[in-house]
Amino acid sequence: MAEKLDPETMRDSSEWLFSFGVIADIQYADLEDGYNYQGSRRRYYRQSLLHLTGAIEEWNKESSMPCCVLQLGDVIDGYNAQYKTSEKSLERVMNTFQMLKVPVHHTWGNHEFYNFSRDYLINSKLNTKFLEDRIAHHPETVPSENYYAYHFVPFPKFRFILLDSYDLSILGIDQSSPKYQQCMKILREHNPNKELNSPKGLFEPQFVQFNGGFSQEQLNWLNDVLTFSDTNQEKVVIVSHIPIYPEASDTVCLAWNYRDALAVIWSHKCVVCFIAGHTHDGGYSEDPFGVHHLDLEGVIEAAPDSQAFGTVHVYSDKMMLKGRGRVPDRIMNYKKELLV
Ligand SMILES: [Zn+2]
Repeated sequence: MAEKLDPETMRDSSEWLFSFGVIADIQYADLEDGYNYQGSRRRYYRQSLLHLTGAIEEWNKESSMPCCVLQLGDVIDGYNAQYKTSEKSLERVMNTFQMLKVPVHHTWGNHEFYNFSRDYLINSKLNTKFLEDRIAHHPETVPSENYYAYHFVPFPKFRFILLDSYDLSILGIDQSSPKYQQCMKILREHNPNKELNSPKGLFEPQFVQFNGGFSQEQLNWLNDVLTFSDTNQEKVVIVSHIPIYPEASDTVCLAWNYRDALAVIWSHKCVVCFIAGHTHDGGYSEDPFGVHHLDLEGVIEAAPDSQAFGTVHVYSDKMMLKGRGRVPDRIMNYKKELLV
């Protein structure tokens, strides 16, 4: 096991600026333990809420309070829909989050759409777009209402961008809508299987129903925000439920058009880190352009005697993830051109 890093002692070597919390795939349900689709991983449906409570208690008592927490999606499990407990379970999780002394930014995953329609989510407590920051005189950096994405600045010169990785998806949208038809066409073109959740035999295994992708409209908006950030000499952290970098994730868990998202990110220098959930086993890799791809281990598969969350400490020259339980520590140095 890797030696645990101590953020307090790290403060001597470079300037500590701020910190933020990260947590993924809570997938709460008031159910007995179960297993994943392959039957290889135990899922602790009730325990996940206790893990969330434990994480919040730790964040609340950290010597320097995190500026916010990023909830990386799949906050309640799809089973809730089957048992008609979606609203009750969401309320329990949201009541737990109320104990947190700092704002939480919620991303939406496939399990949100198993339980709720997109219209429901827009009007729910899982919509945290009211926490966005707007850039004066740059209307092109204002996101459209067609997807759930926004950006905010928790610390000067650091911009966080929440992306909607189910912008292209057949989950949670009206089957009669043109967008559903368009997304079903994309999915079927890449996945001839009768069961659209099966990646069996696929050349591109990410084309399954439980994944989604980014519309060109959203990618154009992302490009505009990153252009502004480059000009303004900001460092950018991107947050998404679905990961986009194959080296850091199981290929069956990638966004449909992850290459398009990477192409946008790689055409800018400002992005330092892309944080995602969805994979449960976690993953990490630094890409050739110096962007750190961090896929967080899921709470739902953390045993009662373990944990799964982290605090990212942001320094002038790096970010340092202090993981708890299943989440390992990571040091993520900024690329040279971002060091001033
Ligand atoms: Zn997911």
